[in-house]
Amino acid sequence: MKAAVVEKIRAAKVTEVPDPVVIPASLKIKVEACAVCGSDLRIFTKGDPRATFPRIIGHEIAGTVVETSPELAGYRVGERVTVAPGHGCGKCKYCRNGMGNVCIHPRPSVGYASSGGFAQYIVPPVNVVANGFVNPIPDNLTFEQASMAELLACCINGQERAQVGEGDTVLIIGAGPAGCMHIQLARARGASKVLVANRSPRRLRMAAERFHPDAAFCGEGDALVQKVLAETDGLGADVVIVAAPSHEAQENALRMVAPRGRVNLFGGLPKDNCISHLETNIIHYKECMLTGASSSLGRQNREALRLLSENKVEPMKYITHRFTLDEFGDAFAAVERHDTIKAVVFPWKTKREILEIGKSE
Ligand SMILES: [Zn+2]
Ligand SMILES: [Zn+2]
Repeated sequence: MKAAVVEKIRAAKVTEVPDPVVIPASLKIKVEACAVCGSDLRIFTKGDPRATFPRIIGHEIAGTVVETSPELAGYRVGERVTVAPGHGCGKCKYCRNGMGNVCIHPRPSVGYASSGGFAQYIVPPVNVVANGFVNPIPDNLTFEQASMAELLACCINGQERAQVGEGDTVLIIGAGPAGCMHIQLARARGASKVLVANRSPRRLRMAAERFHPDAAFCGEGDALVQKVLAETDGLGADVVIVAAPSHEAQENALRMVAPRGRVNLFGGLPKDNCISHLETNIIHYKECMLTGASSSLGRQNREALRLLSENKVEPMKYITHRFTLDEFGDAFAAVERHDTIKAVVFPWKTKREILEIGKSE
């Protein structure tokens, strides 16, 4: 089959590799679409402690089951499914209690330590199948639309941790792909006011035009804090989601959250520079809650597919760029330039076929 193999940082080649062989309790999937994630870009440009090279990366996968192992029940050949990178062992205290995303014995995760979706076929590791990360695609979603589910599932996880609900004012810092999904998801969960902030105007404009937050603030620091307080009767937001890899955003989040509010550190910081200086007295006196978010759960992937199929989160508003597998390098360059909201790679399609999808919208 054809695959994009990342050999080391910033070195990938599209080449022929052997087809993956079905292992017991897994299945072989023909990859029809694989979206590019911010973490794929990080693996490719900086490396990631969870990823090893050479590696076929990519974990926002949608495709068709072409073969199942005799030990595996519940899937049939021809079925359309998504694959997400669940890494739970299935046995530890966290996995047993529905929190496999914080598993203490992480297993090979798709696109990190096992082969991912920038290839024509994938056979996911057994734990990924067993833990519910291979899920049927609702009939009304195309493969590319379904490939939006993995990022949305991560956002659902973040908003569950921050308890976003009915009547909340939610501030999202960062207007990248995750920030954009957080806007629509917060509304779907009943937030009454959604604010978004971003350091640079270009991404903020793209997010505001497509997703219509109640207010969009460009900038950071004291000026941003003042604008958010003015917009929230001086109280701050009930929930602040930090979807930007920024120390300053993390530090200011506490100044913009309301008493008894919740702050979710959705985006991670670079691993060699991850110390922020938080004014912890704010947490003390406001009694606010500070939480993180890491990956997602199988049930959150199924919920993401449902929200996409009901168009509560509108998949077509995110897909801005499409590429063939041969254009792997171009896809990553476009994501790195922040030209895209979401870029999708189609391992079987020709350039002409991809242009046809764009035209038929
Ligand atoms: Zn992802
Ligand atoms: Zn576990």
